[in-house]
Amino acid sequence: MKNLQLSTQDGHATLIFDREGSSANIFDFDTLNELLDTLTQIENDNSINSLQLRSNKPNIFIAGADIHALMASTLGELAAMIDLGHEAFQKLEDLRIPTIATIHGACLGGGYELALACDWRIASDDKCTTIGLPETKLGILPAWGGSTRLPKLIGLPQALPLILGGKVLNANGAKIKRMIDDVVPKEHLDRVATEFLSRGQRETTEHPVLHNPASVRLIEAQARKDIMQRTRGLYPAPLKALKVACQSVSLTPAVSFRKERDTVIELVSQPETARLIDIFFLSEKAKKLRLPDVTPHELQHPVVLGSGIMGAGIAYWLSAHHYPVLLQDIDGNALAKGMVQIGDQYSQAVARHFTSKAEAHKNFDRIHANAEKIPLHNRDLVIEAAVEDLDIKQQIFAELNTRCSEDCILATNTSALPIHELAEVVTNPGRIIGLHFFNPVPQMPLVEIVRAPTTSEQTLATAIRFVQRIGKIPVVVKDSPGFLVNRILVPYLLEACHIFATGIAPEQIDEAMLDFGMPMGPLRLLDEVGLDVGSHVAETLIAAYPERMSMPPLLNEMIENRHLGRKSGKGFYNYDSKTPTPNPDTLALRQNRIAPDEPIIDRLAHLMSEEAARCLDEEIADSPASIDFAMVMGTGYAPFRGGPLRYADATHLLRPDFYPAPNRKTG
Ligand code: NAD
Repeated sequence: MKNLQLSTQDGHATLIFDREGSSANIFDFDTLNELLDTLTQIENDNSINSLQLRSNKPNIFIAGADIHALMASTLGELAAMIDLGHEAFQKLEDLRIPTIATIHGACLGGGYELALACDWRIASDDKCTTIGLPETKLGILPAWGGSTRLPKLIGLPQALPLILGGKVLNANGAKIKRMIDDVVPKEHLDRVATEFLSRGQRETTEHPVLHNPASVRLIEAQARKDIMQRTRGLYPAPLKALKVACQSVSLTPAVSFRKERDTVIELVSQPETARLIDIFFLSEKAKKLRLPDVTPHELQHPVVLGSGIMGAGIAYWLSAHHYPVLLQDIDGNALAKGMVQIGDQYSQAVARHFTSKAEAHKNFDRIHANAEKIPLHNRDLVIEAAVEDLDIKQQIFAELNTRCSEDCILATNTSALPIHELAEVVTNPGRIIGLHFFNPVPQMPLVEIVRAPTTSEQTLATAIRFVQRIGKIPVVVKDSPGFLVNRILVPYLLEACHIFATGIAPEQIDEAMLDFGMPMGPLRLLDEVGLDVGSHVAETLIAAYPERMSMPPLLNEMIENRHLGRKSGKGFYNYDSKTPTPNPDTLALRQNRIAPDEPIIDRLAHLMSEEAARCLDEEIADSPASIDFAMVMGTGYAPFRGGPLRYADATHLLRPDFYPAPNRKTG
């Protein structure tokens, strides 16, 4: 066997998943066939009276199906693979002995569907343990029994948000949702497994709602409403998964499994699914990105300079990933405020069961706040997150040059300022780099790694490794005004203001872009970012590209009136009540100019695609796919559209002069 090992002792069998030559366990034809054969062997061996499933990988139980193999299959092969999975998992469920999955590491998709076919499921409390059915995020649905078994296990209303939202939880979160039976330290998994197995097979409890068609119809209608509100019907997978999961409660498992299979076959042919799967592949690639021939250093002692919204967010994130952080600010009050922000972020993490109270305390204590300009010779990384002002940043970097050792990496979190001008003030410019985190740091997965002309390969490789280590997604971009994401986003936001200034209602502009699939309308986004912060970044871009970007006069007036967005209670909207309403003071600033005749979606979406094409031409990132991927990860650009360049390709949007480079095709 190549992927499984079976051992037995005193009637207890242990089935270990350990894919040969790979750091991950995944399901493909070979593994499923092996599983089926092994289960047949167990079924026929009367000396075996209990079965435990576990993995030998350090941080993966089973990561799910081999998506590469799935995408390379014909529809017939795909159907056969789904049937094979159903057959194997059903055999596991039908065994007449108690079975348990002991989960340590990622237990996702097919991995959790395997666990669902066991009587019991327990998991380690380790950070690497994640549990869930993320299939709808890839444009498909759980089709190895997940859409059928989870509603039966925990109830339809409880299962639907997990399936339709593609949610992945840590072990505590999964226990709260009753997806697993217990959470224990890794070293106790075997002992606790024995206790569970001694209870025998699980008694199935029937949820009364499963036998009440009227209740099921009501639950389905409400869930459909939620999906439409969340996705505006732009994503086919959650709607299809809803139908399958709701039907499953009144069908025999065999019939429901066929529906799971047929629905996947339908969905894989949809363009939305292909684009979502591409995003998944790009994300996997970014997580494994390495520079050839350079061994990165492992950074261990970071300093964060500036404890404003970004500095505090970064310090929180690093400490949550077990780094001891020195947080500095010239202003003691700002430092105290930053620590309060970090405390709030930990409280939220505890409230959402992302971490335990004890772990939150331990991590919070990793941050040392200090307002003195102390020497930093024993530190290997400084992330500067002070105010967005080139003179101030140059002064800070000149000081860092004397405070730090020569090989300490000096990174800036600037949103748009030229990194090479910071490199000019230090003696070893090879160590200067941009690490551009997005706001809010805990929620935004992307970090733009900005490479200045002087940045050394060693610094770049080390920065990539560091970003991966802290669980963020790196995209390497060129040092150019606004880098990549802001370069494409800012003209879009400015144009939304220009359209607003012609007299169009803010909700009409925002609704149009929600219909397009953006997670938030552009004017709401500006209010969230803060108009002062946004206009600061815009100034840099306008100075660089005056021929196509300009500051809407009303933006300056709003800033003068201190209508800065949500943080000041007023911006394009008023934030006094729970539902924001248009701010009459801002509405009064509009001049009744002529509204554009082009539909809002086209005008705004075209702008992003055009700027993305310019970035491609200027090689701001290494490929069209990287540009699209960065926009999805950095702004939430409608993932099902694949990004602004793929959107342009799909809609034949751009004029021929926007097709500059020879490698125009996305991919
Ligand atoms: P902020 O104004 O909230 O905080 C800046 C902090 O830097 C203040 O606490 C200030 O006291 C401190 N500071 C000023 N001079 C300093 C010095 N010499 N040494 C140490 N600390 C000093 O700013 P922010 O929004 O957190 O932004 C920080 C940086 O991150 C900026 O470059 C900004 O462009 C960038 N950025 C901001 C966002 C965002 O949405 N706010 C997003 C991405 C990047």
